[in-house]
Amino acid sequence: MRENLSYEQFGVAVRELAQTIADDGYKPDVVLSIARGGVFVAGGLAYALDCKNIHLVNVEFYTGVGTTLEMPVMLAPVPNAIDFTDKKVLIADDVADTGKTLKLVRDFCLDAVAEVRSAVIYEKTQSLVKCEYVWKRTDEWINFPWSVLPPVTPSGEAPAFNKEAL
Ligand code: 5GP
Repeated sequence: MRENLSYEQFGVAVRELAQTIADDGYKPDVVLSIARGGVFVAGGLAYALDCKNIHLVNVEFYTGVGTTLEMPVMLAPVPNAIDFTDKKVLIADDVADTGKTLKLVRDFCLDAVAEVRSAVIYEKTQSLVKCEYVWKRTDEWINFPWSVLPPVTPSGEAPAFNKEAL
C-alpha cells in the first residue's frame, strides 16, 4: 500500500499546516528547509506564514524505498548556526519517517537558536522526533508528487529509472 499525494493535495496540505502553526501563535523568524523534499514544504509555509527568511540544509539518508545509509549526513555547505542565533526557527520537511533526519537538524539548531519547532506533511508512528506540527499521520510509504516520477530526459532518449517509484 502507498499513500499518494498529488500536487493539488499538497497545496491544500501546506496551507492547512500553516494555519495550525498560525493558530498556535508560532511566528518563525527563519524557515529551515531540509532538502530536497522539505524545500517544497518550506516555500509553501514561508509564504503562508509571511516569513521572508528561508535557509536550507541538505541531508542524505534514503537510497530507495525503505533503504537507507547507516545514518543521515549533512552535505556541504552546512548552514552557519550563527545565522540562527536568537531566532525562532521552523524546520520544514516532507516526512518524519524514522525521524533521524529531523533529529540531526534539530540537534544542530538546539544550542544556537531561541526556539526550534518542526513541521512536516507526514509523520510516521516510529519517528523518534515528535513534530510540533503534522498534517497527516501514516505508516505507508508515501509517493510525493516531486519524486514519484523519474527525472526527465531529453525527448527521444530512454526514460530514467526511478527507484523511489518501484
Ligand atoms: P527519516 O530520517 O525521518 O527516516 O526520513 C527523512 C527523509 O527520508 C524524508 O525527508 C524523505 O526524503 C525520505 N523519506 C522517508 N520516508 C519516506 C516515504 O515514505 N516516502 C518518500 N518518498 N520519502 C521518504
